[in-house]
Amino acid sequence: MRIYLSRPHMSDHEELRVAEAFASNFVAPLGPQLDAFEAKITEYLSADVHCVGLSSGSAALHLALRIAGVGRGDEVWISSMTFAGGIFPVNYLNATPRFFDLSPESWTIDTDLLAEELAKAAKENRLPKAIVPTDLYGQSVALDTLEALAAQYDIRLILDSAESLGATYTEGRKAGSGGDAAILSFNGNKIITTSGGGMLVTRHKAWADEARFLATQARDPAPHYEHSTYGYNYRLSNICAAIGLGQMEVLDDRVTRRREIFSRYKSALELPGISFMPEPEGQRSTRWLTALTIDPSETGCTREDIRLMLLEHQIEARPLWKPMHVQPLYTGSNYHGGGVDEYLFSNGLCLPSGSDMSDAQQDEVIDHIKKLLASRT
Ligand SMILES: *Cc1c(COP(=O)(O)O)cnc(C)c1O
Repeated sequence: MRIYLSRPHMSDHEELRVAEAFASNFVAPLGPQLDAFEAKITEYLSADVHCVGLSSGSAALHLALRIAGVGRGDEVWISSMTFAGGIFPVNYLNATPRFFDLSPESWTIDTDLLAEELAKAAKENRLPKAIVPTDLYGQSVALDTLEALAAQYDIRLILDSAESLGATYTEGRKAGSGGDAAILSFNGNKIITTSGGGMLVTRHKAWADEARFLATQARDPAPHYEHSTYGYNYRLSNICAAIGLGQMEVLDDRVTRRREIFSRYKSALELPGISFMPEPEGQRSTRWLTALTIDPSETGCTREDIRLMLLEHQIEARPLWKPMHVQPLYTGSNYHGGGVDEYLFSNGLCLPSGSDMSDAQQDEVIDHIKKLLASRT
């Protein structure tokens, strides 16, 4: 049986909730399950926020950026190491990204570098409209520092928390609840899934209202169809929300299991030349995917040697995200950093981390890697 990187992991609750949704006949992008799902996430984040269920995390980011006023000629400053869905909405709005490197201590956006560049940009009157840092592999960015910077320069802060629902920044402060807004994703490979879906989480009620309006084709109040601006069909299906309601029952279990998987890999494989993604003191990542780096000079092995060997055994592993500033699409874009992200891409690997993976399956992955390493040293 193939071992996957991260698979949907249902509990006993989802089918029941979907049956309830069918019984209510709200087989539509509105309904009681959608309302309840939004309320559930709001309650979970235990912060003064408003939640809007959407068709994807990318849709949530698109709406957040548009509501933040991002448009042609504006800059959006963003972590270079991210997934396509966390950057493409910048293109939808004809804005220009400027890419930032990661801090080696956290593997999230380097806030010293960001502060330095913001100071320069302020002097030259070319501040960005928004910053979009990514909670990489489920680890919260440095929220306090970023919020202080955003306030100091009066720019919008939109957190890409697609991988970090269930993580905490500090005790009592959950990932996905900071900044002007945060986006969540319920894609099939995330911590919890609605088969596909996302959410905009914002502390501004006006942002949530506008997101609902834009996500349902921007219909002005009138008995006929009246439009003074253009919108999107971005609302989350009530059926998908029902799946999400079931998944929320097990969110904490899922995070606990992913963290356990990370710890098991770490205690088995933390050998000379192998480093695991760090976790800053006081933070609690979801450990969405176990990410590590392999130093070829110390191990005699590249990350591709390991990935391809695992693939031969029907085990799916992936390189870390390829930084956006080295993607063909973004050639010539501005980038600030010392290539921490490029090093992580060249030497980093994500191991199978799905919460439904058994210990026996994980041991199989570990044994194969250990064998290969032993043969090289
Ligand atoms: C998954 C993901 C997204 C996009 O979410 P979708 O629901 O797939 O559109 C955005 N950013 C990051 C970092 C992600 O991992």
